[in-house]
Amino acid sequence: MQTVDVLVVGAGLAGLHTARRLADLGRTVLVVDRRRSLSRGVRTTGIFVRRTLDDFDLPGHLLGPAVRDVLVYPPSRRAPVRLTSDRDEYRLADMAGVYAHACAAAEAAGARVRLGVRYAGTSDGLVRLVGAEPVGARFLVGADGARSRVARDLGLDVNRRFLIGAETVHPVRPVGAAPAFHCVLDPRIAPGYLGWVVNDGRWAHVGVAGYPEAMRPGVRHLLNEFAATAPGAGTPAGPVERRGGPIPVGGVLRRLACPAGLLVGDAAGAVSPLTAGGLDPCLRLSELAAAVAAGYLRTGDDDVLRHYAGDALRRRFRGRLMLRRLFGGIRSAAAAEAAVAALRGRAGRALAARILFGDGSFPDLPSAVSVR
Ligand SMILES: Cc1cc2nc3c(=O)[nH]c(=O)nc-3n(C[C@H](O)[C@H](O)[C@H](O)COP(=O)(O)OP(=O)(O)OC[C@H]3O[C@@H](n4cnc5c(N)ncnc54)[C@H](O)[C@@H]3O)c2cc1C
Repeated sequence: MQTVDVLVVGAGLAGLHTARRLADLGRTVLVVDRRRSLSRGVRTTGIFVRRTLDDFDLPGHLLGPAVRDVLVYPPSRRAPVRLTSDRDEYRLADMAGVYAHACAAAEAAGARVRLGVRYAGTSDGLVRLVGAEPVGARFLVGADGARSRVARDLGLDVNRRFLIGAETVHPVRPVGAAPAFHCVLDPRIAPGYLGWVVNDGRWAHVGVAGYPEAMRPGVRHLLNEFAATAPGAGTPAGPVERRGGPIPVGGVLRRLACPAGLLVGDAAGAVSPLTAGGLDPCLRLSELAAAVAAGYLRTGDDDVLRHYAGDALRRRFRGRLMLRRLFGGIRSAAAAEAAVAALRGRAGRALAARILFGDGSFPDLPSAVSVR
């Protein structure tokens, strides 16, 4: 039977980045994912924010043109509030390319990645897999997404508050318009969140997300309704791809680690509760997770795991969780019209710019170096 120091379940960005860092730190690492190909079943729009692009090495050829303009629309779609940053704020990524790059980086560091292999449970260090022989693992990393099975098996906390998102992606012919991010605040199609169009002149993503219990006609139906009149979407110049999935928005979970393993990415609730952005948090938290797991395996000291406590992170999320409750409370078209109207004033514009262009979507974490 094969034995490894760490078995990482899930080859999303969180799992691949954690595996890379653990292998860098000298650990034997196996990553398994039930997907047969990392370019299939993509669940994200792939908008990377400036802070992530500054701090992590994403190759430029996988990133689209920079987006600086955000337009916020009320339900009537009339007179959007336009916010323009003087910096490059967002880039849409070729996510199949990003996963392939992250996989190659993990393998180059020494991790092994096996696709088409599903995690089926664990007991006493023996991990059952469907599609491969069981593996002996000293430590398990749950990078298996919002509805993590690893979290349940390890007795760690699980996500309970979700948005459900769905989008279409299609190529567009360049028409010379500036890349823009259109956000429609309309609880009839996206209760608790937004309808969005991101069009960077190469690709257009058209999506909606909201609280599932308030999306009675179903997310696909609401997406079709939104897409019929979505601003800025352009005409498809090629095949239309569909993406979607749950987004945990209850904040980072409290109990994230135990002597048998830990959680990263969506499995850890590492998503900005307000913007629902999870790509920056999953990269950032994975750095700390790898340092903590490696430190624990080296010393066998349970105290090392205290560096990976969700409680401390949640405290720094308080303001964002409060704003999420306010945002989620906008349940009528009239309230949404009023909320967008409030953004027209100086204070409203400043708040919107802080949320959309600020650096605070995920708190700074303790340095990974301090853990070692
Ligand atoms: C529609 C939508 C749009 C989004 N857009 C953005 C955006 O533009 N920018 C942003 O910052 N965030 C966005 N997010 C959030 C962001 O995509 C996620 O937070 C991030 O991708 C989470 O990465 P992850 O690696 O934790 O999880 P995932 O990418 O979900 O990876 C989990 C992996 O685990 C695998 N897995 C699950 N169970 C098992 C099992 N039992 N055995 C083996 N493998 C398993 C899955 O196949 C999957 O590959 C979006 C989310 C959605 C749903």
